[in-house]
Amino acid sequence: LIIDRFLAEDDIEFAAARLITDYEAEFRERVAAPVDIDHIGEAFCKLCFDWEFLPELLDQHPELAAVLSDEEKRRSVVLGGLYPRKRLVVLNEKHLEAYNKQPGRERFTKAHEIGHWVLHIDKSVLDQPSLFGDGDETQDAILCRDGDKSRLEWQANRFAAALLMPKALFLDVALPLNLGTWQAQYELRERFNVTISTLVIRLKQLGLTYVDKDGVIHRSEAEAHGQLRLK
Ligand SMILES: [Zn+2]
Repeated sequence: LIIDRFLAEDDIEFAAARLITDYEAEFRERVAAPVDIDHIGEAFCKLCFDWEFLPELLDQHPELAAVLSDEEKRRSVVLGGLYPRKRLVVLNEKHLEAYNKQPGRERFTKAHEIGHWVLHIDKSVLDQPSLFGDGDETQDAILCRDGDKSRLEWQANRFAAALLMPKALFLDVALPLNLGTWQAQYELRERFNVTISTLVIRLKQLGLTYVDKDGVIHRSEAEAHGQLRLK
């Protein structure tokens, strides 16, 4: 049921762009900024977003409780999970307060889960009986932990950035701005309702700007390193 394979950045970019195109065709409207991630997830992907507290997730996944350190449990690093047979996305309610302060984080987590649904679930076997028997759909779940560097997590993150900031739409909005200024980058953040770190990563992915560790904006990573050498 879960597909774990190599995907190039272009493959992921293409998958996100196709989702946008299909969504636009079904609802007969152009996607505009900020991308309506709830509507894409619920009305188009037919997923249900639900909130639960982390302990319930841990109870369902003793193998996860075993590998998490006490520190990780305290920080409640589980962001959420996808239960594909139920078409259910569970978001960890412990993060709700932080999400309310930074809606971009909630939007990113939802887009990330949509990424798992699009990239990693073999829809052709979704309605076949589970290998693990009826009622044990937790075995097929994808659980998402903050800071997890696994391939599936990286791919879902890459997809989320491309879905929240679709390339064509993003370039239309971004290119007229003076991207070398933080003012423009914060303006973009507002337009797309994402966090500033997600925005900075997206600008780098699209080769528009690169921000170094001192917060200086460069045209590219190569230029940033070139300047370092000149010092
Ligand atoms: Zn994930």
